[in-house]
Amino acid sequence: MIKVSNLSKKFGDLEVLKDISFEVAKGEIVVIIGPSGTGKSTLLRCLNYLETPTAGQIHIGNVTIDAVSHKQKQVTALRQQSSFVFQNYSLFANKTALQNVAESLITVWKTPKQNALATAKEILIKVGLEDKLDVYPSQLSGGQQQRVGIARAMAAKGEVILFDEPTSALDPEWVDEVLAVMKQLAVEKQTMIVVTHEMQFAKEVADRVIFMEDGYIVEQGPPLEVFGNPQHQRTKAFVKRALKQS
Ligand code: ADP
Ligand code: MG
Repeated sequence: MIKVSNLSKKFGDLEVLKDISFEVAKGEIVVIIGPSGTGKSTLLRCLNYLETPTAGQIHIGNVTIDAVSHKQKQVTALRQQSSFVFQNYSLFANKTALQNVAESLITVWKTPKQNALATAKEILIKVGLEDKLDVYPSQLSGGQQQRVGIARAMAAKGEVILFDEPTSALDPEWVDEVLAVMKQLAVEKQTMIVVTHEMQFAKEVADRVIFMEDGYIVEQGPPLEVFGNPQHQRTKAFVKRALKQS
């Protein structure tokens, strides 16, 4: 279970997150939508302390951390509860697909190397990359690199996988294969928080859609409600535009 309470984040005078609170149940798929510059990435980054929030509490799995009094030990523990899939993959260029996926098992979970590599191989087979195990990122297509990125997040064994626009940097031809892997994870009830502009994915896969604007959660609910019958004018305007583009 994930519980975020009264989270705020300032960069200097710029208040990017304003008193954000929400919960995510185990196995739930939450999609966050909203205009760019709204704080979606900052929110995800705060969830794993890639950014340090200015105030508020985050509870994930068995870790609770308060921005004002956080300790490095808690940050380390919190980071083990989630893993990130980045827009630009952020793979280790000097490691093979297999080594990229095995890395967290070896360094974070202290899994013996042979076991870690065996697990990494299983996961790469699952995302359809059984023939790319020993290939370096530069020799993979964007879609394949992002599938390695997702495999790496799966290997990290956290409570939740955080996706920040995982298909936004991809050529259109690679988008579907990445979304297919994410849909498979959803079927398996992997808890996920996904920031995306893929409205069709949100409609099909999300249990809940959160609409953010200007550092606030404006509205949230099942996709049928947020897309079909938005309650707030700002949600209406955004959804209308977003659906037209998708
Ligand atoms: P989104 O992901 O919704 O597009 P972001 O979370 O990336 O929005 O950014 C929200 C706001 O915070 C923007 O105004 C952005 O310029 C600002 N911002 C993000 N990261 C930083 C940073 N490291 N330092 C200063 N401002 C930042
Ligand atoms: Mg962003």
